Amino acid sequence: MSARPVLPGATLGILGGGQLGRMLGMAARSLGYGVVVWAGNYDAPARVIADRVLTQPHGDLEGTIELMRTCDLVTLEWENMPAETVDVLSEHRPCHPSASVLRITQDRLAERALLDRLGIPTAPAYGVRTAEDLHTAWQKVGLPARVKTARGGYDGGGQWRVRTETELGSLPTMDGTTAYRWEKEVNFEREISVLLARSSTGEVRVYPAFENEHTGGILHLTRCPARISPEVARRAEEIARSVAEALQIVGMLTVECFVVAAPGGGHDVWVNELAPRVHNSGHLTIEASSTSQFEQHIRAVCGLPLGETTLRSPAAMVNLLGDKSRARVQLTGVPEALSVPHTHLHLYGKQEVRARRKLGHVTALAGSPEEAVARAIRAHGALGFEG
Ligand code: ATP
Ligand code: MG
Repeated sequence: MSARPVLPGATLGILGGGQLGRMLGMAARSLGYGVVVWAGNYDAPARVIADRVLTQPHGDLEGTIELMRTCDLVTLEWENMPAETVDVLSEHRPCHPSASVLRITQDRLAERALLDRLGIPTAPAYGVRTAEDLHTAWQKVGLPARVKTARGGYDGGGQWRVRTETELGSLPTMDGTTAYRWEKEVNFEREISVLLARSSTGEVRVYPAFENEHTGGILHLTRCPARISPEVARRAEEIARSVAEALQIVGMLTVECFVVAAPGGGHDVWVNELAPRVHNSGHLTIEASSTSQFEQHIRAVCGLPLGETTLRSPAAMVNLLGDKSRARVQLTGVPEALSVPHTHLHLYGKQEVRARRKLGHVTALAGSPEEAVARAIRAHGALGFEG
C-alpha cells in the first residue's frame, strides 16, 4: 500500500470520457486536481471538464505515452479498457484500479470463479462456448435462463433471455469462438447495490445499500434506503468487503446483488455482478450522501482520508434515457421538472439521442423514500424530447 498521498495540484488521468468520467472529473476539479480525459473520440461528455482531452482510440501507444507524460496518477470510469494499456501505464504511474482487477471484472467467467472461491452465492450458471456446452447448460442449469456474453456486455446488451426450448433458437451460434455464461433466471425479491471505497492506504468505507429497479436490463430507478432487513444489509456489506479485500481494489467497487427468499424463511444475498468503479446506482450520493461516490473515488485513488458515507436524506434517482434516434437533444419540461421540491437535474451533454441511451438523471430528496420516489418520477415525467 502506498503511504504517500497524491495531493491537489497533481493531474489525474481518466480512462474513458462518458458521464461517469465527467462526474469523476468534476469531483477531481473541485478538489483542485488537474484532469486529463482519454475520451477516445471528440464527442464525449467528459471533454468539457478536462484540461486536456485525448482522442486516440483506447489502447493506442501514442495515447498511452501522452497520458503518462501529462498525468501523475491514472484511474478509469469503465472497466472495459485494454488491460495491457493499464499494464504499461502502471509501470510508470500509479493506476487504480489495477490491471489484475480489470482482468477479473472484464470477464464474467473469471469474476464468477472469484466469487465461487470466496464462497459467495450466485445464480446457478455454466460457461458456454459450443453447441455441446449449450446442451449441457440447458440440462444442468435449466430454463428460464439469461445467456450473457462473458466479455463486453453492459446495460443489458450482449444478453439473451431464454424462457422456452423454442427461444434457444434466438441465441447466437455457439461456434467455439466466443464465451458466454448460461445463468439461471433468478426470481429475486429485490435488487440492491453495495458501493464501497477502498483507498490506497487500505481504508474502507461502505455506503448503505441502494435499491434498484431495472427495465429491459437497464437501470430505471434507485432508492435509498433500500427496503431490506438489517441482516440482509449486514450480509451485503460483508460480501462487498470480502470482494474488495480479495481484489485488493483501490477506488470504488460496486457489488450488484439479488435479494432472494431463503428456503427456510428470511433472505439470502446473491451477487449478480461486480463493477470496479463508480456506478449509476450511486448517482444519488451527489445529493443524498455526506460524500458523493465521485469525490470518494478520487479520495480513494489519491490516498486521501475517505469521507463519511452516511445518508443525509432518503432519496431517489431516475435515469433519463433517449426515446429514439434524434440528431440533437432538445429537452422540454425542464422548468416543470425543477419546480418539484428538492429535485436536481443532471444532464451529461450528449449531442445525439438514441433509444435507451443514458442522457442524464433526476435525483429527488424527501422525508421518506416513498415521497422521494414520487418526486423523482414526477420530475422525470415532466421531461421530454423535441426535434
Ligand atoms: P450493467 O453493466 O448495466 O449493470 P449488464 O449488461 O452487465 O448491466 P447485468 O447486470 O448482468 O447486465 O443484468 C442487467 C439486469 O438484468 C440485472 O440488473 C437484472 O435486473 C437482470 N438480470 C440479469 N441477470 C439475471 C438473472 N440471472 N436473473 C434475473 N434477472 C437478471
Ligand atoms: Mg448489472
